[in-house]
Amino acid sequence: MAILHVTKYGEPILRQKLKPVDYQKIAPQLPRLLKDMEETCLAVHGVGLAANQIGLPLRLAIILLPGEKEEDPPKRYVIINPKIVAKQGEKIEEEGCLSLPGLWAEVKRYTDVTVEFLDETGTPKKMRARGLLAKAFQHEVDHLDGKLFIDLVDPKSKPEVKKIIKKLRAQWD
Ligand SMILES: [Zn+2]
Repeated sequence: MAILHVTKYGEPILRQKLKPVDYQKIAPQLPRLLKDMEETCLAVHGVGLAANQIGLPLRLAIILLPGEKEEDPPKRYVIINPKIVAKQGEKIEEEGCLSLPGLWAEVKRYTDVTVEFLDETGTPKKMRARGLLAKAFQHEVDHLDGKLFIDLVDPKSKPEVKKIIKKLRAQWD
């Protein structure tokens, strides 16, 4: 088990649109990889982590949805080759990202999405989500498409966000 290095804004792999993985090919390494991703995500108090955030060009991500009570363990979702197939409702909310630590900015997201993916056993799933889970699905699918949440910031706020990123980058490893 290991806590992995999380790639930061500016690293080219975060801008790569990742191709779907062949489940059979990655299956042998999957249990270990998912455990490491989960540990890494927990260590940095994240809600989700995409494979390119640990430097791997694989179209998969995990989501650790916090439990209702603080003592409840998070619920883990593994999404392999995910695709958003339906979306509705819009809401502007503050968001952050493990690859842009320290930055919080308001972005517009759908409040209700339906996602198709393979779960960790390779079984095709279709799932409708609302609230934080819907947001997390969108955030992680964006990562796998090479997009970051700052791309969604209102154009008027972008110069300010750029300034903050410049300051923050000096503090990242
Ligand atoms: Zn992120």
